[in-house]
Amino acid sequence: MNWQKNTQNHLETATLGYPRIGKNRELKKALEAFWGGKSDAETLIQTKHEVEFKNWEAQRKAGIDRIGIGDMSLYDQVLDWSIRLGIIPERFASFTGLERYFAMARGKDGIAALEMTKWFDTNYHYLVPEITEILQPADFNDFLETVHRAQTLLGERAIPIILGPVTLLRLSRFEMNQEEACKKLSDRYLLLLQELKKMSIPEVQIHEPALVLGDAAYFKPLYQSTYQSFSQIGLPIHLVTYFDDLGDTYPWVMELPVAGISLDFTRGRNLELLQHHGFPADKELGVGIIDARNIWKIRPDSILSTLEAISRVTTNLRIQPSASLQFVPYDTQLETKLPEPLLQVLSFAEQKLEELKLLANYLNGNPEADKSLEFIRSQWQTFLQFSPVNQAVKERLQNLTVKDFERSLPYEQRQERQPVLPLFPTTTIGSFPQTAEVRQLRVKLKKGEISQAEYEAAIDAEIAKCIKFQEEAGLDVLVHGEFERTDMVEFFAQQLSGFAFTEHGWVQSYGSRCVRPPIIYGDIARTQPMTVREFKVAQSLTNKIVKGMLTGPVTMINWSFTRTDIPRSEQAMQIALALRDEVADLEAAGAKIVQIDEPALREGLPLKPERWDEYLSWAVDAFRLVAGIAKPETQIHTHMCYSEFGDIIKHIERLDADVLSIENSRSNNETLFEITNAGYKRQVGNGVYDVHSPAVPSTEQMVQQLKTGVANLPVKQIWVNPDCGLKTRRWEEGIPSLKNMVEAAKILRHEFNINEK
Ligand code: GLN
Ligand code: ZN
Repeated sequence: MNWQKNTQNHLETATLGYPRIGKNRELKKALEAFWGGKSDAETLIQTKHEVEFKNWEAQRKAGIDRIGIGDMSLYDQVLDWSIRLGIIPERFASFTGLERYFAMARGKDGIAALEMTKWFDTNYHYLVPEITEILQPADFNDFLETVHRAQTLLGERAIPIILGPVTLLRLSRFEMNQEEACKKLSDRYLLLLQELKKMSIPEVQIHEPALVLGDAAYFKPLYQSTYQSFSQIGLPIHLVTYFDDLGDTYPWVMELPVAGISLDFTRGRNLELLQHHGFPADKELGVGIIDARNIWKIRPDSILSTLEAISRVTTNLRIQPSASLQFVPYDTQLETKLPEPLLQVLSFAEQKLEELKLLANYLNGNPEADKSLEFIRSQWQTFLQFSPVNQAVKERLQNLTVKDFERSLPYEQRQERQPVLPLFPTTTIGSFPQTAEVRQLRVKLKKGEISQAEYEAAIDAEIAKCIKFQEEAGLDVLVHGEFERTDMVEFFAQQLSGFAFTEHGWVQSYGSRCVRPPIIYGDIARTQPMTVREFKVAQSLTNKIVKGMLTGPVTMINWSFTRTDIPRSEQAMQIALALRDEVADLEAAGAKIVQIDEPALREGLPLKPERWDEYLSWAVDAFRLVAGIAKPETQIHTHMCYSEFGDIIKHIERLDADVLSIENSRSNNETLFEITNAGYKRQVGNGVYDVHSPAVPSTEQMVQQLKTGVANLPVKQIWVNPDCGLKTRRWEEGIPSLKNMVEAAKILRHEFNINEK
């Protein structure tokens, strides 16, 4: 396809946002120095501006025609918009400036921060706006100042990114009538648009990702009235959507009075919708064609055929990443340890800019681009040879039968054979404090300052301390403490073939917190036992039962960058096979209980509810494949924190875990009620205290929590445990908390033993 032959236009490129933590995590470091009192506000702002400037430079140099600007944030862009719009809850009224900003983000002097939750189906977290009757005055000065700076560098290419009012509303908690809130907010947006118009901005991007959610139709009147009023300003508006397709809302979204609409062509069925309904002749289409959520280079042939198909519907278009590039790391060039054939097919933000430009050049008829695309094809070929299909894994998957996904006996019969424990058995979720000393051990091992044997001996000493403490505290089912694990996904991934790790592949999770997701690049297989050594050490030190501790396949998938050449379900099954072998090895080593953690099962749900069943069906199957090997005598636990279950309870039951431990103390027993209302028959680990707070919970408080459990569940179904792992706590907090917890269990045990007599 040659663009110029078909059209008179020169095909343009655009971006929708960029990573903002800094190529060397400069912003993270600056934030932490500021919070720690080691630097001042001026230095922090200066760092922010420097990172922002470099981001603009990278996009300018790459030759991007319309560079999205204004997405840079000190903590979270949703918080930035809340503050600009005057959505500042009463409890922060005594603060101003940066102090207020960080109080809202992180809490201060006992004043609770805004709630934090996941940004759509990404691993980024935003702060939930709280809209109340009384709004503070709007203040767009910081934004306008940014736009001004961007114009100085980028001129006409600077395109402000604005978080759309309906999406903001959809993601907020509010105490007022929705239409009223929307009207109030839109009026403020109008002021901003007027100011931007005065600055001769050629166009603004208004991001409305909520348009892809299942309930978007419900907000139709709000979208219509809002964009009707915005159109009066006479500033061209480009309405941006991403993360999924528009679904049923497609026809009316096309009618909104805007100059352009962006669609994500890397997820969902936008292409089908476009082909079916067409695209309005008076609008420009923003083609989100470069995957902003994954780290792979483009596959030239499939991308060109999609572009070809789109251009048959409209040629009034531009090409761009599917969303903000904040979901990928900065630059593959920083990586020094990845195998060359793999590195060659990776693409982080900077490479994605190049790819975008390359595609545009190709379509604009530049002969050089042809060669570059051919070169990418050859890199994929080389990669294929580097990472061939693992035939053994493939055959094993093909030969699976229904039986492999089932325990050999139903729950009722398994239960009789499983360990006999006191009423209200007590346990923990797995990890114990990861102290600086423990983390230091790994650094020393990496630097070669200590040997593997010395490292293991030091870990074993921690395990011994942990076992001793748990015995003293009187816990019934013990854990080894997970001291050898950096992170619950990374630890397993590092021992499995098919996973790769970056040195600098950081992506922002929230605020200054960044994660470095492992990359699944090939077929996954286990080469040796992964957790058996530590389990054996722990079990040898006590007569009580020690739980084997695994991270489940779905969580492994959801917290990694995955392959795009085979389905996620298949990648999950490969991991499940590896974990299945681990379960068998743990049993052989004497484990009577094995816990398979799936904290990310719920968060992997697709944005559109109509696709939930499809996801849950393979996700639950993957879990069952891991657990299916266990003998009926072996008790399988699973742990899921901060998940709601009400709408997926049938699938939770199908996991067929003997014991399910849940979060409870933060949600006010919401999760517990969801489970009990559904008549859940298996055992439930009642999260009796919040591990994310340094406060030591009282025995009395936990007795109350347990009594709520008793009021709703048969006593025999109740376990007693904290909400989640104790990794981020200090021993000083962990010890008294667990002692109080055991005390609470004893009080209940006493009451019920008496009652039963
Ligand atoms: N076993 C893990 C731990 O205790 C579970 C962590 C999690 O649920 N996020 O740390
Ligand atoms: Zn948890």
